[in-house]
Amino acid sequence: MREVDLVVAGAGPAGLTAAIYAARSGLSAVVLEKNTIGGQVALTPVVENYPGFANVPGKRLMEIIAEQARHYAEIHEGEGIEEVKLGRNVEAYTSKAVYVAQALILTTGATWKRLGVPGEDRYFGFGVSYCSTCDGYLYREKKAVVVGGGNSALTDALHLKNLGVNVTLIHRRDAFRAEKYLQEALAKEDIATVMHAEGHGNFGRRHHGHGRARAGRLRGDEREIPTDAVFVAIGLHPNTAIATQLGLTLDARGFIQTDRANRTSIPRIYAAGDVTGGSQQIVNAVGEGSTAALSAFEDLTHPYWKK
Ligand SMILES: Cc1cc2nc3c(=O)[nH]c(=O)nc-3n(C[C@H](O)[C@H](O)[C@H](O)COP(=O)(O)OP(=O)(O)OC[C@H]3O[C@@H](n4cnc5c(N)ncnc54)[C@H](O)[C@@H]3O)c2cc1C
Repeated sequence: MREVDLVVAGAGPAGLTAAIYAARSGLSAVVLEKNTIGGQVALTPVVENYPGFANVPGKRLMEIIAEQARHYAEIHEGEGIEEVKLGRNVEAYTSKAVYVAQALILTTGATWKRLGVPGEDRYFGFGVSYCSTCDGYLYREKKAVVVGGGNSALTDALHLKNLGVNVTLIHRRDAFRAEKYLQEALAKEDIATVMHAEGHGNFGRRHHGHGRARAGRLRGDEREIPTDAVFVAIGLHPNTAIATQLGLTLDARGFIQTDRANRTSIPRIYAAGDVTGGSQQIVNAVGEGSTAALSAFEDLTHPYWKK
């Protein structure tokens, strides 16, 4: 059994920042990560919108943040939290140990849904993207296909169009699920749509000499759409297994609900980063991670908790 002030679940940007801020407030913290350090950023080929770094490989950025975090807290990779019990203390169970803490910060992130078509993995980062905010800027004056029919897909299509991307939206049903105002904006912007279609087969074919996705083949009429990029926008799963186990309040989309100080519905449990929804960007994750840690410090040093 290990005793610490604070357990952080997840070593992505939110979790590592929470550890830095907690330790610098005087709390002892341990970060437990079920896979490897870096979260989704470690899988991102290039990051161009994190202030201070004009262009940095995602893995490198996370190595820099992890190196800083290691000065302040232990980070245990390959040690996911499997169960949490709540009493006066928080008990976090992993396959290796039990951690008894006064508070818990959940920074377990979210997982983008994949289409599961040939070429999707191979061309990820080379024309296949899940994040128009992250990669849209690279395709100004170029062609892109957005796959999906919900709020995210239509927002992505509008975002890309606004950047000057020649965008086509493809959706497998005959009607969009997105809110009406987004559908109206789509029509107003005159964005091309292909309904009853899905990314299929030759998706992400490598164009000789470019190494970028060049084609989206659609089911039905087997039409091929030459494109420089394919943005997959079919949804995001928040990683809320622990939150659900604890009975934390989730929002309508299934993300952990927090207040502005990243407190959840249960005292001394905080949440930060993609698992809370929001803008789902690194800069937001680090911001929320710091806020959660400062809230934990404030709560744990409160006279009520101290006695
Ligand atoms: C392909 C792609 C490209 C992107 N590009 C950019 C970009 O250019 N710029 C930008 O700002 N954002 C980008 N993003 C978004 C950015 O990666 C996320 O907003 C950010 O990683 C969120 O950080 P996080 O710490 O909240 O979660 P994550 O990075 O998802 O980290 C969560 C961590 O928690 C761990 N975990 C989950 N469950 C448990 C458990 N039970 N116990 C212990 N650990 C657990 C996971 O293994 C993971 O390591 C991109 C995302 C993707 C998918």
